Amino acid sequence: MLEGEHVHLSAEAVHVRAHELLPEISLATVYNTLNELVAMGEVLEVSAGSGPKRYDPNVTTPHHHLVCTACGALRDVPAGDFGVEFEPAERYGFVLTGVDVVFQGICPSCLAKTGGSEPPSSMDPIAS
Ligand SMILES: [Zn+2]
Ligand SMILES: [Zn+2]
Repeated sequence: MLEGEHVHLSAEAVHVRAHELLPEISLATVYNTLNELVAMGEVLEVSAGSGPKRYDPNVTTPHHHLVCTACGALRDVPAGDFGVEFEPAERYGFVLTGVDVVFQGICPSCLAKTGGSEPPSSMDPIAS
């Protein structure tokens, strides 16, 4: 259900797809399976600001995300160009296990709908 590029489905969207193949599958089963895949490292959980969590099969290439704050479209962006390193002294004793960077913006199709006017979005970084 999650195969393909730039696939970031919510559990409900996965359920809709799965339901076409397995009409008896429940949303709970989908959630459980997704949680197992996340625990196994096969799928990434992406918090894209507001809205439901999304599930991302792209675990092999480190990447950040670009989210449209109007429609929720999610795109992968390469992580390489955006340094998110910081000093060990600033880690409060934490051992880092990952980073989740989400850039917010307005996608081209939403921009076209609003006639290209400035979006009323804030620049607050997303606290996941
Ligand atoms: Zn959009
Ligand atoms: Zn992704």
